[in-house]
Amino acid sequence: MDIEADAVPGDAELYLVGLPELSVWPARARIRAAILNSGTPWPDTTITVSVSPMIPPVYDAAADLALAVALLSAAGVIPPERVTGRVFLGELALDGGIRPVRGVLPMVAAAVRAGISRVVVPAECAREAAQVPGAVVMPVTRLADVVDQLRHGILRDHHDQEPESAPSSSFAGDLADVPGNQAARHALEVCAAGGHHLFLSGDGPATMLAERLPGILPPLTDEAARQVAEIYSLAGQSDRAPGVTPPLSAPHHSETPAAILGSVAANRPGAVSLAHRGVLHLADAPEFTRPVLDGLCQPLDSGQVHLAGLGRTVRYPARFTLVVDARPCPCLERRECACTPEVRRRYRARLALLLPRVAVRAPIEQSNRGTRAGEPSAAVAARVLAARVRAAHRLADTPWRTNAEVPASDLRTRFPAAPEAAELLRSAVNTGLVTADGLARLLRVAWTLADLRGVDRPQFDDAVGALELWKGADSDGAR
Ligand SMILES: [Zn+2]
Repeated sequence: MDIEADAVPGDAELYLVGLPELSVWPARARIRAAILNSGTPWPDTTITVSVSPMIPPVYDAAADLALAVALLSAAGVIPPERVTGRVFLGELALDGGIRPVRGVLPMVAAAVRAGISRVVVPAECAREAAQVPGAVVMPVTRLADVVDQLRHGILRDHHDQEPESAPSSSFAGDLADVPGNQAARHALEVCAAGGHHLFLSGDGPATMLAERLPGILPPLTDEAARQVAEIYSLAGQSDRAPGVTPPLSAPHHSETPAAILGSVAANRPGAVSLAHRGVLHLADAPEFTRPVLDGLCQPLDSGQVHLAGLGRTVRYPARFTLVVDARPCPCLERRECACTPEVRRRYRARLALLLPRVAVRAPIEQSNRGTRAGEPSAAVAARVLAARVRAAHRLADTPWRTNAEVPASDLRTRFPAAPEAAELLRSAVNTGLVTADGLARLLRVAWTLADLRGVDRPQFDDAVGALELWKGADSDGAR
């Protein structure tokens, strides 16, 4: 967004041009009050501030500070040459304070890419802005200080010398804490190794398992961690950015579709994007609303969420490993459940669109009596990493990094399974157990099992294992 300001002799009046109509009045009121409350007399001229492109779909209050600075510069209060070559970000409070804004990280990154490295940001956002290599960050708290320092040419560059504390993992739980549930633990490991989605069926420690999945995934690359940090910044949750640990996003089923999928109107990514490069966990998945469950298919298929509204489309990245769990029925009466088979079937049928996209299923159960402590996360993570390295080596000349990403056509031509493995899986299609789409998912899981065993391509046993994970030993599962 570019801002131009022009002052002509006349009444003391401010015109804002190029802003969405609904936002002009509040923006004008904030800017006017902030300037007056900063001790700067209101300029005795008619000032027109125009924003291009004309009429951005949504006015972002982060532009308040830039508008005020442009206005004061046009009015001769601030020398224009001290304004050029700087980016100003911040929302103005009526008292002249400067409030923190969302999305500082990607905005500063874009400014630096465009060759403008000096950025003036709200003090609360200085650390976030300083993460961008090459950015020279000037933190400010009050409009009066910005005006004063620009007038006297002493707007100091701030070098964040504070040592960057290593971002702590958002959850430190270990798989050793999860009692029993051998089948689910195996399924979790396979999903981590191949990037497959997971369905946990029954009444058991689904949340414990999902929370421990990021801990057995390989750490994010620098590039991925930067992308994740930008998404958290856009969502106004920079303080929760997970660093190099893959993120875990676990929205509650009562949250709105906008909170989960993202919002054009608020210009804000949702929980599915906060899971990018990490894990999205939907606990009690059938309880989520229809728009959410339907809306999830797009990111599952494309790795992105497309949001349309206000005459535009925004895309946010959303490539995650999905973990969904469902109890057998909608009631919470473990002992005295009176739900009919029809009620149970209808409950599970809410996931009819989602479940065909999920390749790995496992039963879960409450199991706390007399179970031995499970294997610790570190041991599982080591096997996952070894399998991922094998896959990455094989996929080195392709755009894909995990088995779950390999298209069906390439599974047929470039990466065929051993003949007896392929034969077994094809027979599952012929008997109607899986669809043609499902066959590709089975082959991908078979590849992951082969990678975990350290063999060159899926053998008969890997095909058997993939089929078992597909069926998930769940008697009333819908697929
Ligand atoms: Zn019931």
